[in-house]
Amino acid sequence: MTPHHTVATSREVTGAIPALASLAGQIGDPLVRHRGTIGGSIANNDPSADYPAACLGLGAKIVTSKREITADDYFRGMFETALEENEIITRIIFPVPQTAAYQKFPNPASRYAMVGVFAAKTSDGVRVAVTGAGPGVFRAQEIEAALARDFSASIIDSVTVPSEEMLQDMHGSSEYRAALVKVMAKRAVSAIQG
Ligand SMILES: Cc1cc2nc3c(=O)[nH]c(=O)nc-3n(C[C@H](O)[C@H](O)[C@H](O)COP(=O)(O)OP(=O)(O)OC[C@H]3O[C@@H](n4cnc5c(N)ncnc54)[C@H](O)[C@@H]3O)c2cc1C
Repeated sequence: MTPHHTVATSREVTGAIPALASLAGQIGDPLVRHRGTIGGSIANNDPSADYPAACLGLGAKIVTSKREITADDYFRGMFETALEENEIITRIIFPVPQTAAYQKFPNPASRYAMVGVFAAKTSDGVRVAVTGAGPGVFRAQEIEAALARDFSASIIDSVTVPSEEMLQDMHGSSEYRAALVKVMAKRAVSAIQG
């Protein structure tokens, strides 16, 4: 039930995972950030929501009234999750990464992500999660593999991001979204490198 504003301004979150606080601070507008909650956001699993990218990018664990689910198993596609009937999210455990950054290209009307990329260096290696581009949040495995070899923004130029599975709507074509994935991934890596 924690509102986005609480996460964005939490001293604990800002200190441990600044990228997560920054992501929360980019959700919608002040009204949305004071009313919307992290549990509601990931239960809803809108394909353009921001928190799913942080959960997947950080390898979070979703704790529910019944069990613990890894983010890799939790997000199942457009508005679909592993939650069962009457299963309530009670907690989300975010491992603290070595470093991380979130960059999004917001829809100018809603502020939802046209494309958002959460990149992190974790104890399990590089993780790159993409929201807004496809029917559900996903890990960009080709970009992860390239960054594992050479953690630099320029290496992303050598990666091909296929547009076939990207969303296409009045806001942008699938080719546009595929191009944005690379641009946002480069910005996230550049932000990490300072
Ligand atoms: C104008 C506008 C702009 C927005 N912009 C953005 C944006 O830029 N980025 C972004 O990520 N989001 C955005 N949102 C979404 C917003 O951040 C909310 O998180 C989202 O609308 C869900 O609302 P809620 O958190 O109040 O959850 P609710 O509406 O209360 O719940 C959503 C669903 O999840 C279920 N649920 C709620 N909590 C739990 C729980 N703990 N366990 C299990 N199920 C639960 C509810 O039963 C319901 O089915 C925007 C919303 C609006 C209206």
